[in-house]
Amino acid sequence: MTTYPEIKLYINGAWRPVAASQPVINPATGEAVGNVPVASAADLDDAVAAATAGFAIWRETAPKARADLIREAAALMRERIDTIAASITREHGKPFEQAKLEVIRGCEFFEWDAGEATRTYGRVIPSAPGVSYIVHHQPIGPVAAFSPWNFPMSQPARKIAGALASGCSLILKAAEETPAGAMHIAEAFHDVGLPAGVLNLVFGIPADISQHLIPNDAIKLVAFTGSTSVGRDLTGLASDHMTSVLMELGGHAPVIVCEDTDVEAAATSSAIRAMRNAGQVCTSPTRFFVHESVFEQFLDVITKRSADTVVGDGMTPGVEMGPLANDRRLAAVTELVADAQAAGATITTGGNRIGDTGYFFEPTVFANVPDTAKVMQVEPFGPLAIVNPVDSLDTAIEQANSVPYGLAAYGFTNRADYVSRMVDRVEAGNLSINTLEASLPETPFGGVKSSGYGREGGTEGLHHYLVVKNVSHSISIV
Ligand code: NAD
Repeated sequence: MTTYPEIKLYINGAWRPVAASQPVINPATGEAVGNVPVASAADLDDAVAAATAGFAIWRETAPKARADLIREAAALMRERIDTIAASITREHGKPFEQAKLEVIRGCEFFEWDAGEATRTYGRVIPSAPGVSYIVHHQPIGPVAAFSPWNFPMSQPARKIAGALASGCSLILKAAEETPAGAMHIAEAFHDVGLPAGVLNLVFGIPADISQHLIPNDAIKLVAFTGSTSVGRDLTGLASDHMTSVLMELGGHAPVIVCEDTDVEAAATSSAIRAMRNAGQVCTSPTRFFVHESVFEQFLDVITKRSADTVVGDGMTPGVEMGPLANDRRLAAVTELVADAQAAGATITTGGNRIGDTGYFFEPTVFANVPDTAKVMQVEPFGPLAIVNPVDSLDTAIEQANSVPYGLAAYGFTNRADYVSRMVDRVEAGNLSINTLEASLPETPFGGVKSSGYGREGGTEGLHHYLVVKNVSHSISIV
């Protein structure tokens, strides 16, 4: 059994131990597994200086060389999968097998963006003889990136992959609750010889770090994944300095279940997906709008499959769902459940904390939740599924669009006309029909409305890390 790593800052190509620290808690036990350092203002200034110097080197590195190095680091992470996954399970709580899948997904993000590094094509605009107009895509500059705790390795991977593939340097503030995932990534890049300063990793007090880094003129892009409220604050701070932002924020994904679908299959798949990662996924299917003719059957199957979810310590084989990742989530989910009950919702399974050790919560299904319940508007980020009946597709779409979020949305139907109406009218950056997979490394991922700006992945994934320069060149002076 591997031990939890000693977490350090990584600045200018060197590991930096720091005296000030805070504990990292294993959410399955509530006990500390390690410590995470708290960066000082001087550490952050060093990181900015390092990222500035790193950018000067990396922007001059050929895209093919960047891609090769990213792929080498990803290969190393694949070799280290068991070690990385064990760290993730300890700090986050998710089942070990799911942690391994997360590491693979993180590596796929690196591998996809490495390929994209060599495809940041510009274009030639037709012009008069002796005159050319050429559009170049160039790296925007040093990035301040912020990644959350729900996917300790693949969330940092997305930010690091996008920045490095584009030729940018970055300072990543990964989540203090789950620091090891990002540290293993930095280790892999260190081991394959990434030039000093190109990737810098810091931890500390989140608001202090963002307020210190974002106003710095050296920082050219703020890339954040997390809640809409924090994203809004960071966007405000960035706009004061005319700094670009890439924002992957919250979601509250609707699932429209039409009367023609295979109800058993749709409900079974829905239960598994709603409880995955204990519901702490921005694309979690959370609000089910089910045609009234199949409502009872859908509710029965999703309730039974959710109740059957094997909950426990992520290191125990066979466990399907671990604890909530931190005590804040436990408090928030408990409050949402109590509020929904008070508003008149029916709980068909779950609704309670499990035991008093760690942060375990029962997989929970609500039926007939009134619009007045907070959970109809607030992203649950917990193992909660809301199942409400609707009388038509139009009502379902109206309900689907009734929240400020617009990240992922899903539909179950075999009717082409229903699909066409959902494509036209559902407000979401990602719409999936008959699958609850919202995105892959090769597809663009991101939100509309309060779910953010920009896309990660796909051919769009590097756009925010690049700036467009139009070069006009006349052979003779005109
Ligand atoms: P939070 O908004 O306080 O924190 C979310 C992340 O942002 C954390 O990693 C935190 O370190 C970071 N953060 C917080 N304040 C910051 C600041 N001022 N500057 C820079 N970074 C900052 O919420 P939380 O309690 O950790 O998580 C709860 C909510 O966050 C959830 O309800 C969910 O909406 C959202 N969340 C979303 C995602 C996602 O993938 N979109 C991931 C994790 C959390």
